[in-house]
Amino acid sequence: MSPGATLATSAAQAHYLGAVMRRRAGDRLLVFNAGSGEFAATIGALDRRAATLVLGARTRAPEPEPDCWLCFAPLRRDMTELVVEKATELGVSRLVPVLTARTQPARLRADRLAAIATEAAEQSERLTIPDIAEPAPLAAFLASFPPSRRLFVAAERHAAPPLSPADPLQPHALLVGPEGGLAPEELDAMARHAFVSPVTLGPRILRAETAAIAGLARLLAGSAP
Ligand code: SAM
Repeated sequence: MSPGATLATSAAQAHYLGAVMRRRAGDRLLVFNAGSGEFAATIGALDRRAATLVLGARTRAPEPEPDCWLCFAPLRRDMTELVVEKATELGVSRLVPVLTARTQPARLRADRLAAIATEAAEQSERLTIPDIAEPAPLAAFLASFPPSRRLFVAAERHAAPPLSPADPLQPHALLVGPEGGLAPEELDAMARHAFVSPVTLGPRILRAETAAIAGLARLLAGSAP
């Protein structure tokens, strides 16, 4: 992306601009892209299936973002959506659904979760949208987890150190279990990996979505303003 360039939107973006946002040709808006930053843009042409945007001046350069993943057992649909929205606002770079022994079966709608993450990124003025991984069973998740990334596992009722802010540029991840908690044998299996650090979020037993949001708020507290 560079000033003066013309971009073609997808059909869904053209529909959103015209039918949802009620924009017209000639209207101005802001567009962003992770690698290039944010630009002023003018709608060149717009119909129901296609739109073109003419880029103006760059309004924000790309900025460093924390390298933080949220790994979470999928919850009830509305709670999973809440977690995706709040984790995106807080700044995670990736969302990883992990299927644990006590995860309640739930169908994850990838398109809906991606739309929620996109809206939350726009709302919070991020220049990136976290990617959302395919759900993976815990054993496969651990087997493919990069050992250079620290994995903080939120474990209630455990004598573990409290979760502290992480260096935002060092790769790290937070894992939160399902409503029924992580099974003792799952915690044992995780403890065998050198990249795993069990952590507590305090003496109260938090709902899984609260644990994810509270944990990320602590972990990302060291990110630059
Ligand atoms: N059913 C479990 C019980 O009553 O012991 C509670 C599970 S809790 C609702 C769901 C998840 O949130 C847990 O697997 C854990 O990852 C996280 N969690 C909740 N409270 C926590 C705390 N105080 N410290 C660390 N993790 C916590």
